[in-house]
Amino acid sequence: MALYNEQRLKIYNSMTGEKEIFSPLSEGYVGMYVCGPTVYSNVHLGNCRTFISFDLVFRYLKHLGYKVRYVRNITDAGHLENDAETGEDRIAKKARLEQIEPMEVVQRYTIDFHNILQKFNNLPPSIEPTATGHIVEQIETIKKIVEKGFAYEVNGSVYFDVFKFNKEHHYGKLSGRAIEDMIANTRELAAQSDKRNPQDFALWKKAEPQHIMRWPSPWSDGFPGWHLECTVMSSKYLGEEFDIHGGGMDLKFPHHECEIAQGEAATGKDPVKYWMHANMLTLNGKKMAKSTGNNILPTEIFTGDNENLSKAFSPSVARFFILQANYRSILDFSDEALKASEKGFNRLLEAVRNLDLLAVSSSSSFSVEEWKQRCYDAMNDDFNSPILIATLFDAVKFINSVKEGEGKISETDKETVKSTMEAFIFDVLGLVDTTVENTDQTEKLSGAVDILIKLRAQARENKDFATSDQIRDQLLSIGIQLKDGKEGTAFSFE
Ligand SMILES: [Zn+2]
Repeated sequence: MALYNEQRLKIYNSMTGEKEIFSPLSEGYVGMYVCGPTVYSNVHLGNCRTFISFDLVFRYLKHLGYKVRYVRNITDAGHLENDAETGEDRIAKKARLEQIEPMEVVQRYTIDFHNILQKFNNLPPSIEPTATGHIVEQIETIKKIVEKGFAYEVNGSVYFDVFKFNKEHHYGKLSGRAIEDMIANTRELAAQSDKRNPQDFALWKKAEPQHIMRWPSPWSDGFPGWHLECTVMSSKYLGEEFDIHGGGMDLKFPHHECEIAQGEAATGKDPVKYWMHANMLTLNGKKMAKSTGNNILPTEIFTGDNENLSKAFSPSVARFFILQANYRSILDFSDEALKASEKGFNRLLEAVRNLDLLAVSSSSSFSVEEWKQRCYDAMNDDFNSPILIATLFDAVKFINSVKEGEGKISETDKETVKSTMEAFIFDVLGLVDTTVENTDQTEKLSGAVDILIKLRAQARENKDFATSDQIRDQLLSIGIQLKDGKEGTAFSFE
């Protein structure tokens, strides 16, 4: 029997504001769509938090035995400078400023995005479609929405008719907004736009002559509206209705609201069963912003090269820190908090390594099965990773008490603790034991020093003392000391 039958997962659904028992549309299979990055600059740490949160979701669903198709898009066209659909395409603007092709911008920042997520040990999604790779499908969906009467064409652009849609459906149901309030809050003047109402949004925009990213369509040479790609790519790969849609909190409105409207207008079906939103990341209690210097790039964490940091931290420590908060809470990033996480992370890994050394008894002084279920309970409660981590530390205390001779553990319980700790730490939380990597590197380094010692011995045999001294002195200058003795030459790292 699959684990998902024994462990009842609950997910907080942003649509209903409640934790609901997770029951996928098709038993044993999960379709999950997460809004990916617009690849016009280096990936933000805040975005990394969102993708690490959904990596945790992906990993836990797989751990429970579900077959998961995880789709995460790359926005490489159509995302304009501001959400009111004005300004230049973000990618085209960067291309213009750097005098390179838009696709060079896309390539550069897609590679950066993949590199950073790989460092954080995120699993790649099952499919990573691009907006420019789905222009044909986007045009077909616009045609459908126009046919159903929920969109209109003006001067070569096509707009979604929010008011018409709202007569039969509810525009604003995800973000809890009423259309009347949206009208009251709008500052856009209708006269400046071709739209019938400022709330309407573009499905297709006619390209200005200087706009380089353009495609032919029945309406004009132009480009798709930003919200459309997610509707089109999610339905293409997951169906008109699918299980989980995720993204950052900031995408709830208007992006996700527009996705729902487009999906319902095109197919008559509400596309998503469970909406999930990851909260934001602050730095030292304030919003991150390049302009104020209150900003950190992911690579700067790994090098320590940022005025907000006192040292470098490994990607696993940063990931551990991120997972110590619930994905729905605001997380505040700081040097102090990272240092505390590093200590905790090392204690956790040390306990896992100590497990093998524990002497076994005929019984245990700790209820291992109950503890194991508490680990699952934490994750079943809307992927509550901070509670899971706290529960893992209960085992750390227990392991240390056995080590000190104060507690007892049986052979089978030791196996259960080991397999459970490893499953949750490495498979579900996706953390990496960097000390294992270090041990491996230390072995290689020792091998390299041995080679140098042999070369030095050969040089001495050949009476080439200049070379032999050079090897000894230069190794010493980088902190490796050679000691000649009767048994040959030994070395130590200073
Ligand atoms: Zn999206």
